[in-house]
Amino acid sequence: MTQPIFNGRRFNSYSNYFSKQFGGRVQKISIDAGFSCPNRDGTLSTGGCSFCSNDAFNPSYCRPEKSIRQQIEEGIEFHQRRYRRATQYLAYFQPYSNTYKPLPDLKSIYQQAIEVPDVIGIVIGTRPDLIDESLLNYLNEIQQTHYVMLEYGVESVYDETLKRVNRGHDFATAERAIQLTAEHNIPCGAHFIFGLPGETKEMMLDAANIISHLPLTTVKFHQLQIFKGTKMAEEYQEQPTAFHLFDLDEYIDFVIDFVERLSPDIVIERFAGEVPPRYLVSEPWMKLRYDQVLQRIESRMKERDTWQGRLYNQFF
Ligand code: SF4
Repeated sequence: MTQPIFNGRRFNSYSNYFSKQFGGRVQKISIDAGFSCPNRDGTLSTGGCSFCSNDAFNPSYCRPEKSIRQQIEEGIEFHQRRYRRATQYLAYFQPYSNTYKPLPDLKSIYQQAIEVPDVIGIVIGTRPDLIDESLLNYLNEIQQTHYVMLEYGVESVYDETLKRVNRGHDFATAERAIQLTAEHNIPCGAHFIFGLPGETKEMMLDAANIISHLPLTTVKFHQLQIFKGTKMAEEYQEQPTAFHLFDLDEYIDFVIDFVERLSPDIVIERFAGEVPPRYLVSEPWMKLRYDQVLQRIESRMKERDTWQGRLYNQFF
């Protein structure tokens, strides 16, 4: 099989997708708009997903006491000081469940973001059980003038895993949300975790076929990281042998094995998670920055002379 054209790389990269969409570099600016989550506020449960620690994902400028405009402006300033290359921005509603309010409130929140100069669109992270036709119709309207992407936490394609980590929804719910989003012509991303308890390597690799047949635009992959103060941290203290935390070389080869089986049409936004080690119970390799991990993945792909989709079976 010959390697598809990925603009000089061995996988379908997010930066390439953005360049094609927007003609240049685009930076995502995280916003905390004060959303909650039904899996924490008692609607579904009070415990949340056993791995969940939203604190670990919030940059310092991103605080719900600040207005949305202020968070975006401070975020732009922060990124301009560090990277300087982006001139266009996407407001990224990231922590908790960013569709978990009545529609009129959601309209007002998203509207505040797209009114900020240089913001060309919004990315909304949420649970797949918090989406409906009326919201998708509204997002479709915004899409006439601004980019819109929905990003679902799916985490696993296996119901027994989702139950074990207390997700509060099954995989069929995620499939339905992704399908409905695609039917409304809204780009759709999904997040998956590799290494959740109970999953073997074979199960995780088999998931590549299942994910490949979903109408997804982008995916993000994270290795399992156990955050301090979570339910999973307690479980890990009690029974560390029930968990398998990847070491770096093992993860790199695993994630390449996975990506070889993934459809070449799906854009990969991330191969691994990156959070400050102070948040983690146990982290053998996350002192590396994400760009260093990515570099190692790409050079290992070259060594193995492989690429995204090399073993993809479209007739599966
Ligand atoms: S991971 Fe997301 S869905 Fe799960 S408890 Fe945390 S905010 Fe809620």
